[in-house]
Amino acid sequence: MINIVLFGKPGAGKGTQAEFLKEKYKLTHISTGDVFRFNLKNDTELGKQVRVYMDAGDLVPDELTTKMLIDEVNKHTDTNGVLFDGYPRTISQAVALDAFLSSIGSKVTATVALEADDEILIKRLLERGKTSGRIDDQDEDKIRNRYDEYNEKTAPLMQYYNDQGKFHAVNGIGSVQEITERLSAVIDNL
Ligand code: ADP
Repeated sequence: MINIVLFGKPGAGKGTQAEFLKEKYKLTHISTGDVFRFNLKNDTELGKQVRVYMDAGDLVPDELTTKMLIDEVNKHTDTNGVLFDGYPRTISQAVALDAFLSSIGSKVTATVALEADDEILIKRLLERGKTSGRIDDQDEDKIRNRYDEYNEKTAPLMQYYNDQGKFHAVNGIGSVQEITERLSAVIDNL
């Protein structure tokens, strides 16, 4: 299996790039944000549990998130590999992912980050909020809270993967196609 973690701040373009990469490398795309939003929309038990966190732009607790992620991976055992989008977002999640993948005889192949300046991204999210219907994209305070969560809890993952020699970064500013090419260059070299 080739398992890629797509990494980046809110609005960095992970979802957009994932659509191309999953086709190109025949990967199963798992976006934790999308799975959570599906559960919110359908008002499932999980949806009820995560709504308060998501609407505020807070991270959902690790235990709930990891359980959901493992359930998702287990639905797709017959695959070339997984493109993880939005997971892991804390050290505890990264440790849980390593343990889980190791239990199925696999591992994270590489982490690729999309880099971009906060102020550009915040503008992008406010634009997206006009049409996405996402409550967490419509209010600058909630967006800034997501960046605080990122800086405090998610940014340390760069060091975590760098220590394992698995961290790569590409410039996330440019056309969608340019960025796909940058990401592909990294993946083709793995
Ligand atoms: P963005 O990257 O734009 O913030 P996502 O769709 O990846 O959007 O995530 C939206 C929200 O879903 C997050 O703010 C958080 O509440 C929740 N979420 C998604 N993935 C995780 C995760 N790995 N851990 C905790 N919460 C998560």
